[in-house]
Amino acid sequence: MSNTQEIISCPYCLDLKSDLFAKENGWNIVKCRSCDFLYVNPRPTQLSRLNATQYGVHEGGVDIKERYVPNKVNEYRKILNQMFPDVWKPKREISWIDIGAGYGEMIQAIRSLSNANSRIIGIEPMKEKVDFAKKNGIEIIEGFISEDTPKCDFASAINIFSHLYDFDAFLQDVRKILKEKGEFLLVTGDMANMNNRKEFPGEFGLPDHVAFASEKHLKGFFERNGFEIISIKKTRIDNFFYTFKNCIKKLLGRNTLLALPYSSCYRDIYIRAIKK
Ligand SMILES: [Zn+2]
Repeated sequence: MSNTQEIISCPYCLDLKSDLFAKENGWNIVKCRSCDFLYVNPRPTQLSRLNATQYGVHEGGVDIKERYVPNKVNEYRKILNQMFPDVWKPKREISWIDIGAGYGEMIQAIRSLSNANSRIIGIEPMKEKVDFAKKNGIEIIEGFISEDTPKCDFASAINIFSHLYDFDAFLQDVRKILKEKGEFLLVTGDMANMNNRKEFPGEFGLPDHVAFASEKHLKGFFERNGFEIISIKKTRIDNFFYTFKNCIKKLLGRNTLLALPYSSCYRDIYIRAIKK
């Protein structure tokens, strides 16, 4: 094993025993024997990853930059509308920080729904994304959560759970940047009931993604870090468009799996929680 990799125990329950679940790009996802948490093991060391998030490319050449997706703004808008009617209807003046804001699609969605005097900002480590968001008129801080990060009424983290090495530590950081009774919106995948690789539509994105939770793990993480869940919403991703994109990826030789649309138990999960 090279010094850019490390062997770990289950990030959720610390058990050392696991079974192989899937292979991709030369990396393995294992399933914890005690709690069923899915995680990459061995995984890239923190140091090799810090370089990756700054430059957008992993050792081994996997491109993690992605791109701006205008459609996401409408998608997020629809779900925010359903999950936070008590915030938009009275046009509350709020502060909201989106952590790992990427190209700023979530911020655009929040801005379109909230009171015009609200302060909606982002924080993002990858320079290319920060520059793009700034050009779009978005207030965005380059880097990670720190002592200087402004305290807000709301925080969100969209599709970053799988990138994180220590979600407990992350939730403690989120607590610090939330005001009293502040709220947190987490969006990630729900891997519940997924017993083998074939049930997951598409690519896992290893080794950029290192952890894959189910609803029960997410509930446990929130509970043990002093959050109370207000509401949960799930959406499926394996629609016809997704299946079409997967076919294209397969044709391009990518490590994806083809399945019929609407056949997977995988869901995107949205969790709204309040700091206790
Ligand atoms: Zn475990």
